[in-house]
Amino acid sequence: MTFENLGLSADLLATVAREGYTEPTPVQSAAIPLILAGRDVLAAAQTGTGKTAAFVLPALERLRGHANAGFSPARHPVRMLILTPTRELAVQVSEFVKTYSHGSALRSTVVYGGTRIDPEIKILWKGVEILVATPGRLMDHVGQRTVNLSQVEILVLDEADRMLDMGFIPDVRKIVALMPAQRQTLLFSATFSDDIRRLAGEFLKNPETVEVAARNSIADNLTQVLYPVDQDRKADLLIHLIKRDSMEQVLVFTRSKLGASRLASYLDRRGVSCSAIHGDRSQQERTRALEAFRGHFVKVLVATDVASRGLDIADLPYVVNYELPYEPQDYIHRIGRTGRAGASGTAISLVSPQEVEELRAVQRLLRKSIPCEVVEEYLPDPDREPAAAERPRGGRSQSGQSWSRPARVSSAPAYSRSQLSAAAGSR
Ligand code: AMP
Repeated sequence: MTFENLGLSADLLATVAREGYTEPTPVQSAAIPLILAGRDVLAAAQTGTGKTAAFVLPALERLRGHANAGFSPARHPVRMLILTPTRELAVQVSEFVKTYSHGSALRSTVVYGGTRIDPEIKILWKGVEILVATPGRLMDHVGQRTVNLSQVEILVLDEADRMLDMGFIPDVRKIVALMPAQRQTLLFSATFSDDIRRLAGEFLKNPETVEVAARNSIADNLTQVLYPVDQDRKADLLIHLIKRDSMEQVLVFTRSKLGASRLASYLDRRGVSCSAIHGDRSQQERTRALEAFRGHFVKVLVATDVASRGLDIADLPYVVNYELPYEPQDYIHRIGRTGRAGASGTAISLVSPQEVEELRAVQRLLRKSIPCEVVEEYLPDPDREPAAAERPRGGRSQSGQSWSRPARVSSAPAYSRSQLSAAAGSR
């Protein structure tokens, strides 16, 4: 399949060539012709599959008739709305829209919470054809009557599964009610859960389904490995691995904002250049942290799951799960940041004996176990009482007893003896 076969016109083919895309990704091959034909599309595609171009390129093709150089805002009503769950994804999608529409007279902008609304209002007043927005901020604009959605022709719900998780669907419903019923709707989601199918039933008309990779599949060029280690030695093991493997760009996931801040300052103190990105930081701080990481000014970016959604950093070689996520699905989202668009990548998980349940859940979802490697001096100490920070939430076992190291950890932890001995034997 080539881009020429997909039905895009010469200027968009030139854009694609300029970006260095030689052939369409699977989601692009499947979705672009359907979108060009005006169909509603329900697509299961994770970040990293080229999904943004899969909806932006054909949409630009369909909207080209609206491109005009008129000064009057009335000549530039919103024709396409792209809703995303997070500010970072909104900014990223908007950057792709700008890149792909470069040279066209179609105008675009992005609006999201956590920043001043006035500059956004000024741009909206002048008129834009393509608007990228997070639902909450868009509702603010709707309330202030600074945006009119009555001429929207294409609606994209990007990372709809995350919008669902984050409780945005009531806002999405209100927003959709302001648009013409006669429109094209495209819903992109990392996975098709029953909730997503219900949502598609509500917002899409007779959609075509595009499912590019098997559910929960992981890119072939991605190496996964886990290291057993006690929680309170993870930071030192991380530093050891960064030095041992001369890692230059590492995205590290923690479960909590506090954990992210603490780890970042520890790494900094130990001479590993680092920044952090999480929900408590201002938009400006987040953007700065991301830019520093993208520009190779810092080696490590520590992130929480919510803050990391949709981050696009080209050719990211390493992702580290400093802690496994509570939701196994988040493991797939996290490691999807590496091994993207054909580049190879490594996803490392630092797993303490207290995380065996989370590890089991991840391995169940992957339908395979993650190869285990050991660094002898960081192996968990079987005799040691865990520190308070390592205890499960609540500090009590399921039986209600005060927590002590459960017997199953030494007898059959998910990564334990068989994986450990296999790893040790392979050295
Ligand atoms: P996305 O899944 O939209 O977040 O895109 C992931 C990355 O893939 C981005 O850095 C895009 O620039 C890149 N990309 C998109 N389409 C292609 C393509 N056909 N060939 C190579 N890279 C692509």
